[in-house]
Amino acid sequence: MLHCSKQSGKIKKNNAEQTMTIAYLSHHDCLLHDMGPHHPEQPARLSAINDRLIASGLEMVLRHHDAPLATRELLEAVHDPEYIDQIFAASPSEGLVWVDGDTAMNPHSLNAALRAAGAVALGVDLVMEGKAKQVFCAVRPPGHHAERHRAMGFCLFNNIAVGAYHALDRYGLERVAIVDFDVHHGNGTEDIVSGDRRVLFCSTFQHPFYPHSGFDSTAANVVNAPLPAGSGGRVFREAVETHWLPRLEAFAPQLILVSAGFDAHQADDMANLNLVDADYAWVTRRLCEQAQRSATGRVVSSLEGGYELHALARSVEAHLKAFLGDN
Ligand SMILES: [Zn+2]
Repeated sequence: MLHCSKQSGKIKKNNAEQTMTIAYLSHHDCLLHDMGPHHPEQPARLSAINDRLIASGLEMVLRHHDAPLATRELLEAVHDPEYIDQIFAASPSEGLVWVDGDTAMNPHSLNAALRAAGAVALGVDLVMEGKAKQVFCAVRPPGHHAERHRAMGFCLFNNIAVGAYHALDRYGLERVAIVDFDVHHGNGTEDIVSGDRRVLFCSTFQHPFYPHSGFDSTAANVVNAPLPAGSGGRVFREAVETHWLPRLEAFAPQLILVSAGFDAHQADDMANLNLVDADYAWVTRRLCEQAQRSATGRVVSSLEGGYELHALARSVEAHLKAFLGDN
């Protein structure tokens, strides 16, 4: 009897710990990927987020994990083998190699990209094994522009898609949702998941705008909500309520993955949407509510864009605080 009560006490404590913490996945390699001093996708983005989480006290509720390197098998679930070979072959021993007009590799970029994809896969492991309820991957390079066979828009491997297919393949899930509130359309994610009814891809993005895709998608599993330049929180929230939430409710995802880009912030001059910190908190709460209804609360979020360092750091703080509010 004593043994039993001890066990149940331990379980209770673990559950309490799990609901009070957010798993925070990152790696030093992600700071070493550097595309030059004038490139907006810079290591300082992660430093700004880390500094803000310490200053805000949120650091206290984060459980840190080092992101592992994604395996070849994980990458091959979403990328052509020939493309993976090209990226490995392009990795320079010194200097920068450009693999797309906007996207370069330095000697550390390959490992950073493997860590970024590996982070989302580990995040899936943590929530599927009940070791965490919510995960944030503070990683770079981002991933949502990387197509099955093409690097693009600062992205080498499609981190969020790697996580989705890991959940489908390793854990046998039947329904995984990917939601993407980055200001740019996640053309890479759509390229990879389009037509796969096990994945629901919901996106908001500025249109017309880079990468000039998504506005004419016809796949049944893709829910795109283009937003005109100048749109603020009211228009964004209406789009989420009208387009995303009913489809998410009907789909009943067993896991929600988030392509968390914060470049739709009004302070971010990469684009022309006018979201504020509170909009990121709001959308995060809606996603957590859906996750509670169909996914036992499981949410794995991974950093995409966000280039104004103060707005980025505050928005991540709002995103993570909304996770805690869910508990
Ligand atoms: Zn973006």
